[in-house]
Amino acid sequence: CGIVGYVGPRPSQDILISGLARLEYRGYDSAGIAVIDESGALDSRKRAGKLAVLRDDLARTPLPAGTTGIGHTRWATHGGPTDVNAHPHIADDGRLAVIHNGIIENFAALKADLLSDGYEFKSETDTEVAAVLLGRAYHENGEDLQAAFRDTVGQLDGAFTLLAMHQDHPGLVVGARRNSPLVIGLGDGENFLGSDVAAFVEHTRNALAIGQDQIVAITPDAVSVTDFDGAPVEASPFEVTWDA
Ligand code: GLU
Repeated sequence: CGIVGYVGPRPSQDILISGLARLEYRGYDSAGIAVIDESGALDSRKRAGKLAVLRDDLARTPLPAGTTGIGHTRWATHGGPTDVNAHPHIADDGRLAVIHNGIIENFAALKADLLSDGYEFKSETDTEVAAVLLGRAYHENGEDLQAAFRDTVGQLDGAFTLLAMHQDHPGLVVGARRNSPLVIGLGDGENFLGSDVAAFVEHTRNALAIGQDQIVAITPDAVSVTDFDGAPVEASPFEVTWDA
C-alpha cells in the first residue's frame, strides 16, 4: 500500500524505512526493503506485521549498506499476509527485486506460461509473476533493464504501481503506474520515487507528477519519463507546499 525508492549517495536503508513510516497511515499488513550493497549484491528483508517488526529485525541483523533501494508496505490481495508473500519479490537468481501496489488481473495466465517454461515461484502473490516475467524479459532484451521493464508492463492488465531494480544496474530504479499512484521526488544528486509525496517530503519538496500509463527511470543525476512504448513524455513539476 506504500512505495518508496531511492538512488543517491546516502545509505538508503533509513530513508526507505522513514519513508514507509510516513506512509503507514494508509494501512498495511507487511513491510520489506531491498538494497544494492557496496559489493554490488542485492539484499532484501521482508516481514509480515508492523513496520516495527521489520525495523527490529534490521536492528538485530542489519543489511549491508546500499545507496540504491526500494521499500514497500503491503495490503495483501493475493496470498495471505506472510513473510514469504511480503514484498520485495526477488527473481533472476537473486539479482532482481520488484515491489508492487495494486492487482495484476491476468497473473494466472502469465504464471501458467512461466511455469510451463520451467520458472519456479515461492509466493502466492500476483506480484511475483511480474518479478519472474521481468527476469525472463531482462535476458530476452539483452540485459537492458528499461527495455525489459517496458516489455513486462506491456503484458500486465489491472492496476499497478511497480518498481524494480537489478544488481547489474546499481544507481537505477525503474517504475511504472497504471490506475495507481507514483510520484518522483527531485533531490540534489539524489532522486526518489513514492506512492505519494509523503514518502520523500522530508528530503525534497520538488516533485514531478507521472501520468497514467507512464514509465520512469531514476538515477542520482537524472530522471526520464516515457510512455509504455518508450516515447519520452513531459512530466509536470510541482512543489509540495503542505507541512510535513
Ligand atoms: N496484489 C499485491 C499482493 O497481494 C500487492 C498488494 C498491495 O497493493 O500492497 O501482494
